Amino acid sequence: MNEYDSNRITDIVKDIGYEKSKDQNNADCYLINTCHIRDKAKEKVFHEVGRIKQIYSNKEKPIMVIAGCVSQAENEEILKREPFIDVVIGPQSYHKINKILDNFQKNKKEVETEFDTINKFDCLNKTKNLDSKVSSFLTIQEGCDKFCHFCVVPYTRGPECSRPFKTILKEAEQLIKNGAKEIILLGQNVNAYSFYENDSEFKISNLLNELEKYSELKRIRYTTSHPVDMTDDLIECYSTNKKLMPFIHLPIQSGSNKVLQLMNRKHKVEDYIDIYNKLTNINPLIKLSSDFIIGYPGEEKSDFEKTLKLIKEIKFINSFSFIFSPRPGTKASKLNEVDKNTSKERLKELQSLLFQNQIDHNKSLENEEIDVLVENKISDQNKYFGRNEYFNSVIFEAEKKDIGKIVKVNVENSNKNTLFGKIRSKMKAA
Ligand code: SAM
Ligand code: SF4
Repeated sequence: MNEYDSNRITDIVKDIGYEKSKDQNNADCYLINTCHIRDKAKEKVFHEVGRIKQIYSNKEKPIMVIAGCVSQAENEEILKREPFIDVVIGPQSYHKINKILDNFQKNKKEVETEFDTINKFDCLNKTKNLDSKVSSFLTIQEGCDKFCHFCVVPYTRGPECSRPFKTILKEAEQLIKNGAKEIILLGQNVNAYSFYENDSEFKISNLLNELEKYSELKRIRYTTSHPVDMTDDLIECYSTNKKLMPFIHLPIQSGSNKVLQLMNRKHKVEDYIDIYNKLTNINPLIKLSSDFIIGYPGEEKSDFEKTLKLIKEIKFINSFSFIFSPRPGTKASKLNEVDKNTSKERLKELQSLLFQNQIDHNKSLENEEIDVLVENKISDQNKYFGRNEYFNSVIFEAEKKDIGKIVKVNVENSNKNTLFGKIRSKMKAA
C-alpha cells in the first residue's frame, strides 16, 4: 500500500511542478513514506534521514518530509528527535501535500495527521493514476476496525473506509488504458470492502466480477485479507471468475486457538481450515500464504507446536513471519513478552518449515509448463521478469514484444524465491 500511496503522491505533486528526481543525492525535496507495523521499520526511517543529512552537510538543505504511519503514530516527536525534518504528514492527509509544500517557509515546521480519508479518496478520484505497469496496484479500502491486540493499523490508518465502487472501476479503466494486464486490489482488510449506494451494498465479490469483464485485463488479485471476511460470495468467485488467480494471502498469525483469542483475532483455527476446504473443493489447485507472529505474549511451546502442525497441514507456499514487536498504544504492548531467545529459536524452526514448503512447491514446478505474465526486462541482463499464477517470481528468456503477454514458460530449475526457464509457446496476444 505504501508503494501505491507513494506513486499517488508523485502524481499529486506534479501539479505544483515537482518531478521524481533520478538522482537520490540531489533533490529539492525528500519524502520518505513510512511503515510503523514493527519497530525496525521506524528505525530505518531515522537511519535514512541521517544518510540524507550527511549528503547536505555543506549544501543548502532540501525540504524533508516524513509521510505515512510513523508520522501518524509519532507526530511532533519526530521533529523533536530529528530537527532536519520539516514536515510530518499522516497517511490519511497526503492529499494536502501541495498546499503544505506551496506554503513551505524555512524554519516553519508542519505536522498534519488528521484522519481525513474521505477527502483523501476524493483527491485520489480527481488525480489521474499515471502508473503504467503491467501489474498495477489499486487501493479500494483503508483502515481497520478489528483492533487485533498487537496491531497499530487501526490507530495509524484510522477506521475502515471503502472507496466508491464506480470510482474504483474508473481508476481500473485508467490503469488498463495505461497498459495494466493485472490489477492487485489493495486494503489493510481488502475483503472487508463494503460500499453502499442507493441502498445496495457493493462488496469485493462485486468488484472482482466487474473487473473480470474488461477484456484487456488478464489477471486479478487482492491483498490483504482477513479470514473473518472470507464470505461465501467471495469464495464463490473462485468457481466463476476466470481471471481471479488461485493464490490467496490469508494471514492466520497462529495455529493455536488460545493465542488467536489472546490476539483478538475473532476466529478459530477450525474456521480457517473450513475456508481452506471450501476453496480447495472449488479448485484443488488453490494455494494459500500467510503471516505468522511468533512469541506473542502467552504463546507456550504447545501453542507454537500447533502452529507448526497447521503449516504441515495447509502447506502454505509463501509466508511472512515475524517475532512479536510491541507497538505503542496497543493492548499487547502492556503484556509480558516471551523470552527473546525462545522467540528467536521458534522463528528459526518455523521459517525452516515454511521455506521447505516454498522450495518443495517451486521444485514441483520444474519441468512443467507454467503461465507467466511478462512484466519487464531485467536491467543488465538479457532476461525478463514475470509471475506465474501463484505470484512466484519467474526469470526467463523472452523478447521485448512479450511484455504484457501471458506466455508459456518451461521451468528448468528453481530456488526458494525464483523459478528459471525458457518460453515455450505463446498464448494468443490480448
Ligand atoms: N489485516 C491483515 C490481517 O488481519 O491478517 C494483516 C495486515 S498487517 C498490516 C500485516 C502483518 O503484520 C500482520 O498480518 C502481522 O503478521 C504483522 N504484524 C502486525 N503487527 C505486528 C506486531 N506488533 N508484531 C509483529 N508482527 C506484526
Ligand atoms: Fe491489524 Fe489486520 Fe488486525 Fe486490522 S485485522 S488490526 S490490520 S492485523
